[in-house]
Amino acid sequence: MYKIDQEKCIGCGMCVSVCPYGAIKIGTDGKAIIDQKKCQQCGKCAPICPMQVIKLIK
Ligand code: SF4
Ligand code: SF4
Repeated sequence: MYKIDQEKCIGCGMCVSVCPYGAIKIGTDGKAIIDQKKCQQCGKCAPICPMQVIKLIK
């Protein structure tokens, strides 16, 4: 599954815009979070992140 390292996320919102399934939200702490129930593992979010903090974890 795809996971965001929230410590390094700058909350830019790029991943939110690119996710075709609306699975990413910016939380109240200003960090992005993936709703694993909505994520379809398409992988579009990972390369768009300027901080490269979205990783595929097995
Ligand atoms: S892998 Fe695809 S569906 Fe899952 S959060 Fe990233 S862009 Fe959205
Ligand atoms: S694109 Fe990366 S830095 Fe920007 S909100 Fe998403 S996870 Fe955070």
